[in-house]
Amino acid sequence: MHTKVGVAMLLGVAAGWALQQFAEASYLTTTVVKAGLEVQMQVLDPECQRALWLTPLVMAADIFMRLLKMLIVPLVLSSIVTGVAGISGGKEFGRLGAKTLGYYLTTSLLAIVTGLLVINLTQPGVGAALHLAIPDHFAPGEGSSFLDILQRMVPPNVFSALSDNGQMLQVIVFALLLGFFIGRVGEPHSQRLRELFDSFFAVMMAIASAVLKLIPYGVFALVAKVVGETGFAVFQPLLLYMSIVAGALLFHAMVVLPCLLKFVGGISPWRWFRAMSPAMMTAFSTSSSSITLPVTMESAEHRGGVSNKHTSFVLPLGATINMDGTALYECVGVLFLSQYYASSGDFDLTLGKQLFIVLTALFASIGAAGIPSAGLIMMTAILSALGLPTEGALMLLAIDRPLDMLRTMVNVWSDSCGAALIAKSEGDAILPES
Ligand code: ASP
Repeated sequence: MHTKVGVAMLLGVAAGWALQQFAEASYLTTTVVKAGLEVQMQVLDPECQRALWLTPLVMAADIFMRLLKMLIVPLVLSSIVTGVAGISGGKEFGRLGAKTLGYYLTTSLLAIVTGLLVINLTQPGVGAALHLAIPDHFAPGEGSSFLDILQRMVPPNVFSALSDNGQMLQVIVFALLLGFFIGRVGEPHSQRLRELFDSFFAVMMAIASAVLKLIPYGVFALVAKVVGETGFAVFQPLLLYMSIVAGALLFHAMVVLPCLLKFVGGISPWRWFRAMSPAMMTAFSTSSSSITLPVTMESAEHRGGVSNKHTSFVLPLGATINMDGTALYECVGVLFLSQYYASSGDFDLTLGKQLFIVLTALFASIGAAGIPSAGLIMMTAILSALGLPTEGALMLLAIDRPLDMLRTMVNVWSDSCGAALIAKSEGDAILPES
């Protein structure tokens, strides 16, 4: 898949470039003919020419994006419900559950704050030459103070929340409650509903992997469109953006999480990383925490010394709801685009909106399924909630793969650090000398 995406990107650049040359050339020929023979000919503007040729690419990119968006609600719902219902029934849920959720929320928030600081300090989106259309006005969701948002997280009507992409927070709140009570309601209902949602989730994942097979074609269409429309200038801000995301992710993975391991758990970060290296490599090469989960559990148990009781509680839940890399990425990506719209249009990037982004990034990371590019799909939901066009997410998709590999690794690394810390606090012998 990685090779295919790489090749698709190069082909997209070549096709986009050819398109540009062709549009320019056709303009010149027309002018020469017109001047030489003094024939009245309609001059074909290169812009029109380009637009004509770009139409099929724009359509292909749009269909691809629609397929991804189609999956958001059913995937979020089924992934959270299966993850939470699977563990909420056990007697241990109280203490272990509180520790696990505490760790997951804390590290995700730390990751988001890292992203928030870095993007505000570097401001890569301000005045960036992204060539995205600026809408005349931005239509944000109603009331964006922090308390308004908290209040709006509770869905008054589940079905209307499910039918509106802007209401992701409500869907997630409902999914968390549903999953929790499916585990608690007792037999025979727990078992039946768990099986129902497990199967639904499996089908959604199957559809998602079929759609994701189209990624190389989507990337080709997107890159050709962007290069054909705007040339190579757009890559400069995108490269800057990529290096900022990568830097922030590495800081979280190599400084923040190791500090927690060392100072909270007294565990050697380096030795823990070595124990988890098979999982890290799998995460990096598959871009999927769900596919990596069996390797993460195996490594934590057999190489790290976490007991099965703890790996089987902490890690599956982590692969579903704990995504530090994704949380950081959501925050940085949305703020990057917000900075662009604030500097080029009249979008007002207030402190309230930044807080809104922090909170929605947290929930979007909880809701994102552990599959490639899920973080990017969730980003469209945040953008719509802010009243921003989702076209920006489409542009970021063109360069998503390397960032996805990195953030998936950070997601899995954070799950594993959580497993080590929680297991140690429960008395497991972590990293026993062999
Ligand atoms: N690919 C990531 C994962 O599986 C999710 C994301 O796209 O951020 O953890």
